[in-house]
Amino acid sequence: MTTMEMSLTRPDLERWILDFAHQIIEQHVVLSDLDAASGDADHGSNMERGMSALLQSVPGWDSTALPGEFLKQVGLHIVSSVGGSSGALYGTIFLRMARTVGDAPSINAGLLSDAFEAAAQGVVERGNVKQGDKTMYDALAPSVQALRAQLTAKKSPSEALQSAAAAAEAGRDATADMVARKGKSSYAREKSRGFIDPGATSVAMLIRSAARTLG
Ligand code: ADP
Ligand code: MG
Repeated sequence: MTTMEMSLTRPDLERWILDFAHQIIEQHVVLSDLDAASGDADHGSNMERGMSALLQSVPGWDSTALPGEFLKQVGLHIVSSVGGSSGALYGTIFLRMARTVGDAPSINAGLLSDAFEAAAQGVVERGNVKQGDKTMYDALAPSVQALRAQLTAKKSPSEALQSAAAAAEAGRDATADMVARKGKSSYAREKSRGFIDPGATSVAMLIRSAARTLG
């Protein structure tokens, strides 16, 4: 998309998800190493398993599906293939986006922003999490806020997505100074300080991927 108006359909979303899947597969060792610092060293392998399965399945899916149907398929696939808390939470991200998009024939910038907001709210509810708990939400929340703020300020969808990705990366980096209060890393408490959160790292990749493919 190079024009001001955004109108995303299934092929756009597919480009996003496949780009993300490739990034995860490439970075899975880094993600598991981050999880090793205070968790159980499996975030990269959990995500890699699901994303490899996704790369296998997507070509067999109905290519004429509406954007919302595609997002729902992705969410259900992630829930059943990723596993761990991240599987449930990433599943929630896509299922909430799907629910927000509904049966819209295409997704404009306002609807994308609504869908991202619903996804973040889903993580809050499902993970019982707030900002500062050192989770994926610390990357997701600021990026969703940046996307909305940029669109409200009449920036182009492309610029808004770039800002959202930068905000996710800043949020990811800020988790280094936090002590984990949720998930397996919370057992390590102070030991988690000094390391960035693996889930915040993969979510920053998800938003960077959106900026690369949807903007
Ligand atoms: P598990 O914790 O089951 O081993 P993963 O290692 O795949 O799952 O994912 C860990 C990531 O999941 C953490 O880095 C964190 O970002 C995220 N996470 C874990 N629990 C929660 C929660 N309750 N709310 C939000 N995010 C969470
Ligand atoms: Mg883990």
